[in-house]
Amino acid sequence: NTFAEIDLGDTLNQNIKRCKYVKPTPVQRYAIPISLAGRDLMACAQTGSGKTAAFCFPIISGIMRETYVQRPRVARTAYPLALILSPTRELSCQIHDEAKKFSYQTGVKVVVAYGGAPINQQLRELERGVDILVATPGRLVDLLERARTLLFSATFPKEIQRLASDFLSSYVFLAV
Ligand code: AMP
Repeated sequence: NTFAEIDLGDTLNQNIKRCKYVKPTPVQRYAIPISLAGRDLMACAQTGSGKTAAFCFPIISGIMRETYVQRPRVARTAYPLALILSPTRELSCQIHDEAKKFSYQTGVKVVVAYGGAPINQQLRELERGVDILVATPGRLVDLLERARTLLFSATFPKEIQRLASDFLSSYVFLAV
């Protein structure tokens, strides 16, 4: 019934101590090992039960484990390894603040994106590198629409043409 018993890694365990979390809440005790084992999970627990840490800890721990070669790791791409969708700007900012505390000195980079704020600033932030993106659904769609999607194919049959018109916007067609 301690965080040390769950294999989250030293840096994350230090951050948990810094947050003064002494032992996992029930949702954390059960959800974290299931997530670390790679299972999909749907967890129901009331407000204030520690859900934020329950999904942030395995995400951060998983990212650190995958990139164990370089310490501290550096986020290199504008595409996140994990996405946390949340319905409102307030909740997104709250999750972002917590996730930043949890990922202190891990090299795991957390970025937040929400509507009603300049998208260009958020794009620039993402371009500097991101591991975990906390976003509201509307702004996430806006960000995805800015991405350039590349579709390469040896042939161009009807099915691929349909895929292209579904997933690319005003695309350039190149045949060589
Ligand atoms: P949440 O349900 O994620 O909004 O968390 C509710 C509050 O409980 C937040 O202030 C957290 O910082 C705090 N909290 C989360 N997990 C723990 C824990 N294991 N021990 C003590 N406080 C916690």
